[in-house]
Amino acid sequence: MTEEKMGGGLGGFGGFAIDFSGMTAQAAESAVVRTAGAGASVDATLVIVGSGPAGLTAAIYAARAGLEPIVLAGHEPGGQLMLTSDVENYPGFPDGIQGPELMARFRAQAERFGSRVLDVAVDRVDLTDRPFRLWADGVEYRARAVIVATGASALWLGLESETRLRGRGVSACATCDGFFFRDQDIAVIGGGDTALEEALYLTRFARTVRMIVRRDEFRGSRIMQDRALRDPKITVEWNSQVAAVLGGEKVEGIRLRDSRSGEERDVAVDGVFVAIGHRPNTEVFRGWLDVDEKGYLRAHEHSGAGIPGVFVAGDVDDPHYRQAVTAAGEGARAAIDAERWLEAQGDAEPVEATTTAAGPAPLAPSAPAAAG
Ligand code: NDP
Repeated sequence: MTEEKMGGGLGGFGGFAIDFSGMTAQAAESAVVRTAGAGASVDATLVIVGSGPAGLTAAIYAARAGLEPIVLAGHEPGGQLMLTSDVENYPGFPDGIQGPELMARFRAQAERFGSRVLDVAVDRVDLTDRPFRLWADGVEYRARAVIVATGASALWLGLESETRLRGRGVSACATCDGFFFRDQDIAVIGGGDTALEEALYLTRFARTVRMIVRRDEFRGSRIMQDRALRDPKITVEWNSQVAAVLGGEKVEGIRLRDSRSGEERDVAVDGVFVAIGHRPNTEVFRGWLDVDEKGYLRAHEHSGAGIPGVFVAGDVDDPHYRQAVTAAGEGARAAIDAERWLEAQGDAEPVEATTTAAGPAPLAPSAPAAAG
């Protein structure tokens, strides 16, 4: 395995130091909001929830349209690319780029045009009337329009060894990382359509692909099952669960546990792709916005989320493509829709239309509002 590439100084989520020091003006403003304390409130024309490719692209477009958006970055600022090492399929980077660095660039670009990106997570919303109200860290944000770009998080097995070796042979994205496993042996965990699709995709690179399925049948569609079972590179370990991912600095194997007998055995592999599903981050919007049976938001007309003035972008409404570039495209769509909608309401002027050459005016939270 090319662990230099997979690992690439990433060291899991926390090992990659991102230098946001070039953004001191905005960071200082963020601090104003963060220290404003419970009860403070902030008015904005547009609040974007989420700071992955969708949220930050929406911010770039909205900021360039003069809307001075506030981005509430969420629990995983930067989104799923913060967990990815080399990104080689994002256009414009012919030599590839590290996921965290790409997201730092998105953020710098959004802030350059006057977006305020705050590292807080929304814990409650009230979308009854405009201004819409969102709460994060005890501060109330009142927005004339909202873009929801909270993404979807990959589900993980929850093993310590899996977390430790993430980015060092453990991945949740075959399209992102499959390329690094040329002529190697790979395990794909899961038996749904995602796992089947990932396994089939990985046969392009891998020497062997071993699917680890916890029951004695797949969950995925018949046609994908047939394709996988016909593929000479794919074998299936039925009734098998992963008890541990083996390896110190990089993946060297997996410990399989028989779901029925509990018996364990070790299998040598170079890479482990976890494909047991995604969870859309829609909890705080439940009850307000339409979700499908898996919890993904349903986009209505264009990027509308069903409530006029609320728009949706990225993986949070897309269980299908889940690519940085498609999410970024949706972010652009949502920002354009939001801008046109705000204009139609006579609301397109920013609340604080005082952007100067030195950057946007400081956020000045008004003190204490009656937070509901
Ligand atoms: P699914 O929920 O359909 O499947 C998840 C799979 O992972 C199941 O086999 C499940 O096992 C297994 N699993 C779940 N948790 C664990 C665990 N802790 N340990 C081991 N195995 C586990 O998720 P998918 O992401 O595959 O699909 C989501 C939706 O997206 C589906 O509706 C699917 O059809 C759709 N999709 C469609 C595609 C297409 O049309 N091209 C491509 C990808 C997805 P068990 O069966 O025992 O619960």
